[in-house]
Amino acid sequence: MAVIGIDLGTTNSLGAYWKDGTVHLIPMEGERFLLPSVVGYVEGEGFLAGAAAKERLILYPEDTVASFKRFMGTEKEYHLGGKAYSPMELSAMVLEQIKRNAEFFLKEEIEEAVITVPAYFNDKQRSDTKKAAQIAGLKVDRLINEPSAAALAYRMEYGEEDRTLLVFDFGGGTLDLSYVECFDNVIEIIAVAGDNHLGGDDIDQAVSEYFCRENGLKSEELTKEDQAKLRKLSEVSKCALAEREEVTMELETGGRVCRVLLNEERLFEICMPLFGKIKQLFVHILEDAGSKVSGIDELIMVGGSSKLGVVKRFLRELLGKEPIVLGETDRVVACGAGVYAGIRQRREEIRDMLLTDVCPFTLGIGVNNRANRDKNILSPMIERNTTLPASHRERFVTVGDYQKEIRIQIYQGEEYYVDDDVLLGELTIEVALKPAGQAWVDVQFTYDINGILHVMAENEMGERRQILLANQTLSEAELEWYTREMEKIMLPPIQQPENQKMLAFFLDYYEKSTGHKRERIASMTGRILTGLSSGRKKEVKNAEKLGKMWMTQLQQAMDMQEELLFDGELKVGFGEELDDFEEESDEFGEESEEFI
Ligand code: ADP
Ligand code: MG
Repeated sequence: MAVIGIDLGTTNSLGAYWKDGTVHLIPMEGERFLLPSVVGYVEGEGFLAGAAAKERLILYPEDTVASFKRFMGTEKEYHLGGKAYSPMELSAMVLEQIKRNAEFFLKEEIEEAVITVPAYFNDKQRSDTKKAAQIAGLKVDRLINEPSAAALAYRMEYGEEDRTLLVFDFGGGTLDLSYVECFDNVIEIIAVAGDNHLGGDDIDQAVSEYFCRENGLKSEELTKEDQAKLRKLSEVSKCALAEREEVTMELETGGRVCRVLLNEERLFEICMPLFGKIKQLFVHILEDAGSKVSGIDELIMVGGSSKLGVVKRFLRELLGKEPIVLGETDRVVACGAGVYAGIRQRREEIRDMLLTDVCPFTLGIGVNNRANRDKNILSPMIERNTTLPASHRERFVTVGDYQKEIRIQIYQGEEYYVDDDVLLGELTIEVALKPAGQAWVDVQFTYDINGILHVMAENEMGERRQILLANQTLSEAELEWYTREMEKIMLPPIQQPENQKMLAFFLDYYEKSTGHKRERIASMTGRILTGLSSGRKKEVKNAEKLGKMWMTQLQQAMDMQEELLFDGELKVGFGEELDDFEEESDEFGEESEEFI
């Protein structure tokens, strides 16, 4: 059983695994490692995730969704094919696609994954990520923070000296800054800051607006299709600046051709308002970490938007030091996740690392507000950015005379009034009958590294009440329901891109062959087709397994230019596997010939 690491990104997702002492990325489509985190609905067919879905964004914007990670943990609904889907379900579709691609590539079942999440993800967002993995059939014991993954990737490349890192992760929809200390075998996140509405998408938006301004266009007057085309054009042009000095953007809209010249200088100006926000975030994180720019040993650039020359230039000017670029910036987090997957499999070559965490939000309880009795205020117990595990105990007194009990409401958030924070749970405990302010309870918060919050209240009589607030997972029944739903809605196996690729391989081979060889290929293809369209999980799996095995053998035979495969001698397990296959599915055999 293989364990893989997954960077489940807002814009792109990647998979990685550990083998032979190093980390490898898993190809998603052809030579590409990035799987767009996009889900599309194909009328009358079903759902698909990845590049094929992204391609449909322009033509079928109503049936395609992207960037749903931004709303993970919320009640937001996306309507596709007449039904509503949550960000969790959509993420499950992306994870399932990654799992499938990984199994296809590694030729073994993937059961466990290490998934990265932004360090600021709250409990609900983390538990929804775990649930998404569960729906996709992946076991996830531990989510790791994206900056911790980046730090792991940095240490693989630069060695294990003690270092203070500032991880600058600039992706498609978000910017995350993390102040990370690495010492010995510990990677500790000291502070995090970020903006989950600041990323490459915003740069594209700013470039689009610039394009409209320069051409006297009003973006809201463009057709939906033209708006989408302009966004795509902006993104492509921005990325092209990595290779070229300048790019001419050109769009035909409303019967005329509009143009704008884009170069580094102009892009720098266009990005100025965004850079202002970035600077504020640096101030914020350094304050929270109790540090200064000089306290940072290395600035690590991560995320696709970190590929922009203007971003690098801005950071160099802001901090007065050269940022570190670890290869392709949008692959760093996935590589770290792959390293951690290796650690989980206890691979000898890598040292076990302790990834500590911070509590990304303040946890506290609602207390009475003298100024306004109707609006309770937050009394922080564990402040944001506290290193985990953490524990805090505090005494609270009654507000009413001879009050019988105290209700302890547990909140997460930074807002003064608890109504604006997130209510996590509550417990009630009796108190001694005394005048106001004289009866008391001690409340203790303990928050561990797996995101489990234990709250305990103890009154003066020594009685205790407690509650455990953990990342939730799906119940058996819920999981079964989701799995069934997923099977119903995803593209049928025969139309999955990798199976299409496999069939194309056989058909191509069929075309190239003649005689006996051709008949065998026809029979193989028929068997695979029958299996894939059987509608039965086991048979589909079998057909996929067999198809992959044959494909490998045929490929080997092709490589060696050997005909042996058809003499019934060379192939390992060929005959046996075929028998198994036939035993497991009675309908196979005769019927299969009809398919070609
Ligand atoms: P996320 O972590 O949000 O899933 P990524 O780290 O993959 O996303 O970053 C995606 C963003 O990176 C997109 O906005 C994309 O336009 C941008 N990007 C990718 N390649 C380049 C490039 N060469 N130059 C500029 N931006 C790029
Ligand atoms: Mg990312």
